[in-house]
Amino acid sequence: MEISGRTRVLGIIGDPIDHSRSPALHNLFAKAEGIDTVYVPFPLKSGNVGDALAGAHALHVAGLNVTMPHKKAVIEYLDGIDPAAEALGAVNTLVRTERGYRGYNTDVVGFEKELKGFQTDFEGQEAIVIGAGGVSGPVIHVLQSMKLSHIWLLNRTVEKAEEKFGHISNVTVLPLDGFREIPEGRHLCVQCTGVGMGASIGRAPIEDPGFYKRIGKAVDLIYSPEETEFMRLVREAGGEAKNGLEMLLYQAVESYRLFTGHQVSPETVEMAGKAVCDV
Ligand code: NAP
Repeated sequence: MEISGRTRVLGIIGDPIDHSRSPALHNLFAKAEGIDTVYVPFPLKSGNVGDALAGAHALHVAGLNVTMPHKKAVIEYLDGIDPAAEALGAVNTLVRTERGYRGYNTDVVGFEKELKGFQTDFEGQEAIVIGAGGVSGPVIHVLQSMKLSHIWLLNRTVEKAEEKFGHISNVTVLPLDGFREIPEGRHLCVQCTGVGMGASIGRAPIEDPGFYKRIGKAVDLIYSPEETEFMRLVREAGGEAKNGLEMLLYQAVESYRLFTGHQVSPETVEMAGKAVCDV
């Protein structure tokens, strides 16, 4: 990679950030497509988001991805927000404007692609979502658009989940140990907490084997480690489990398009999938 005085700087803010594969993906896109960008990780503690964005803007950082725990916190510092991201209340992509950054959410596109990987029509089926944080909004949005009949939303803090999603008519919020209320069956399940990565490797948000009898197909949005404890428990109970690498890949493609105006070619997407995501 050759960096010149004209190279545009892109990056990602989050905490933790060292697990992120976004730098590998975006730098691969740049190299394969011949676009003059470089993408770097920026570890950022909560409370410093406003200062970080002001500094990045002053330094002409052309675009930033945003990961946990900042997807909501960045909103108040933006110059503008895409209506879809505003409706979701979470932003994961910032594009530099003259006055600041405009926020977008590319997780919707990424999660749609992830589900398509199952090659299953989920219309009319029920789904279980674990977690009610920043990424759960896009996930529930996609499940609604795919016309799933009911969504069982399990969260550690019930009040938080109620506040965000309790108004949706076909969403039932339960505590994590409330899963026994979910009718038995082989449902689609999406794991949207950070439990299973970093300091919690080897743990799952629900460890009772009785829960896993209710799962047919599952996605853990964590992509490092490659197999989380949640995925292992799903497989042990006879279900099919994927990690979140495909979502990461396709949300990155969409972010890169927003940052640069360049649509990454299908050949490069395939190469990135093999090189970085092993999908
Ligand atoms: P977030 O906004 O910080 O939300 C975290 C969620 O996890 C909340 O529901 C929280 O529950 C729950 N949680 C945290 N610690 C827990 C614990 N010890 N036990 C049970 N629940 C716990 O995070 P996010 O942005 O939604 O991201 C969530 C996960 O998705 C992360 O692992 C992230 O890496 C992954 N992700 C992957 C992709 C991808 O492309 N594959 C994209 C986006 C996100 P409370 O409400 O009780 O705090």
